[in-house]
Amino acid sequence: MSTKIGKAAASAAGLLALCLAAAPATASAATGSAAAKLPSYETWQADVRKVMDPSVPYLDERVRQGGSKLAVVLDIDNTSLETEYHPGAPNKPVLEFAKAAAGHGVPILIATARKESGKASALSALKKAGYPAITAICLKKNESHAVDVKIRCRKQFVSEGYTLIANVGNRPGDLEYKNYERGFKLPDYDEQLS
Ligand SMILES: [Mg+2]
Repeated sequence: MSTKIGKAAASAAGLLALCLAAAPATASAATGSAAAKLPSYETWQADVRKVMDPSVPYLDERVRQGGSKLAVVLDIDNTSLETEYHPGAPNKPVLEFAKAAAGHGVPILIATARKESGKASALSALKKAGYPAITAICLKKNESHAVDVKIRCRKQFVSEGYTLIANVGNRPGDLEYKNYERGFKLPDYDEQLS
């Protein structure tokens, strides 16, 4: 008798264990949007740092090698500025990189999917956030996709004689068409960060 109870208890426990094991999968399937939730600011910054940590040593070494009209390209939203987490604030690892570029006399070029009409406000936002002087800014004209803006802008920079030694952006499209030497791809968490 006691053995029977023991068996029943064991199988109940087994069933419970099965339910518990299945529960997380069921919960995440039911709340698909929760799975796509943006990480905390701290996690984002840690992820950004991981990407940007080698950027200044790379810049120092690349500048030492020389070349003509060396320049770096930056995206604005969720790259240069913390658009999603703290609108208007500088994304510090990228700001440090930009300051290092300026320290070397390397022009900072901006490629952004913000509209042409927002040119003055984009430049003033970067200045207010502490960015060094921006040598050139290229914005959206009538493209439907941001990737086309970025490609046109970088092609334009190259046609002006710049050697794009680094390209920093957070969307895959920011890095498409490789007419630059090294890309620094920040997280966008499945396109949640513009
Ligand atoms: Mg962006």
